[in-house]
Amino acid sequence: MAKQRVLSGVQPTGNLHLGNYLGAIRNWVEIQSNYDNYFCVVDLHAITVPHNPKTLAHDTYTIAALYLACGIDLQYSTIFVQSHVSAHSELTWLLNCITPLNWLERMIQFKEKAVKQGENVSVGLLDYPVLMAADILLYDADRVPVGEDQKQHLELTRDIAIRVNDKYGSKEKPVLKLPEPLIRQEGARIMSLTDGTSKMSKSDPSDMSRINLLDPPELVEKKIKRCKTDPIKGLTFDDPERPECNNLLTLYTILSGKTKQEVAVECRDMGWGQFKLLLAEVTIEVLRPIQDKYKEIMDNRDYLDSILREGRQKAEAVANKTLERVKNALGYLPPL
Ligand code: ATP
Ligand code: MG
Repeated sequence: MAKQRVLSGVQPTGNLHLGNYLGAIRNWVEIQSNYDNYFCVVDLHAITVPHNPKTLAHDTYTIAALYLACGIDLQYSTIFVQSHVSAHSELTWLLNCITPLNWLERMIQFKEKAVKQGENVSVGLLDYPVLMAADILLYDADRVPVGEDQKQHLELTRDIAIRVNDKYGSKEKPVLKLPEPLIRQEGARIMSLTDGTSKMSKSDPSDMSRINLLDPPELVEKKIKRCKTDPIKGLTFDDPERPECNNLLTLYTILSGKTKQEVAVECRDMGWGQFKLLLAEVTIEVLRPIQDKYKEIMDNRDYLDSILREGRQKAEAVANKTLERVKNALGYLPPL
């Protein structure tokens, strides 16, 4: 039987942080051998907020190289750049015309990101979830491994697919495949180092709020030393009054590979000073091999180019077929 297909992506809006790694990429790596995987660098999404044209191409390379450095294996997975496959933009337009505006106005991420943009909110930011739906639906993806923050967008993707199928398909011959989210509980929502109630984000203006996968050891140590804590003695999980404490213990649990129970006992009587040293140490150890591999890949640009070229070809072959299927269902005159 053919393997089920997986699709996911990260925006080149900066370099990857621990939230992206623990919420998404680590899971991609773990499941990849069981699926036929497509991992894209979603550069069209990256311009939904103001972006820097001078760094976009470099950031795109960085994310692709980090996929490889984190363990994405080309034996199982295809890596490509979203803007290299024009079907993403084209399907977005078709889906735009069948997506009710009020579905998009309800999206939490839009509301949160729009507040930060003030007067400058683009139509693209509102349309972000439709582009994401196109990304997923083009590949007939069965599974979409993402962090918790993308759950609402995945529900919207399913709603859009259902609407297309109802309007233009039949029960026997649906136009689009309905994808299922794959959200792992542990690490699905890593919080900011400066505020335990908001998620760690590439777009947070403060670099001190996140640990980037490429931060050198001294910086990791500094960020952890300065991160927000509380004056309560002893460290405990799951106390709603202590979101920072829960987040840091969760990070330590996942990064050390210990169980929650083990960490609860180990850290029960610890002070912040002692715990922060421990967390910094394990974080640095997890990041070291990723950083070494990353440097190796970035030093070999021809290799990276060849991967992205091949990735585009493979992705295009799948995406163009789906696009054609949708255009046929909508009644378009095929190119003559
Ligand atoms: P931006 O702030 O620009 O939106 P981001 O940090 O949210 O950046 P994305 O590129 O939007 O990163 O998301 C890439 C993947 O990482 C998605 O699967 C998303 O769900 C996941 N992710 C993002 N932030 C976190 C987080 N704090 N914890 C767990 N997963 C996360
Ligand atoms: Mg995001």
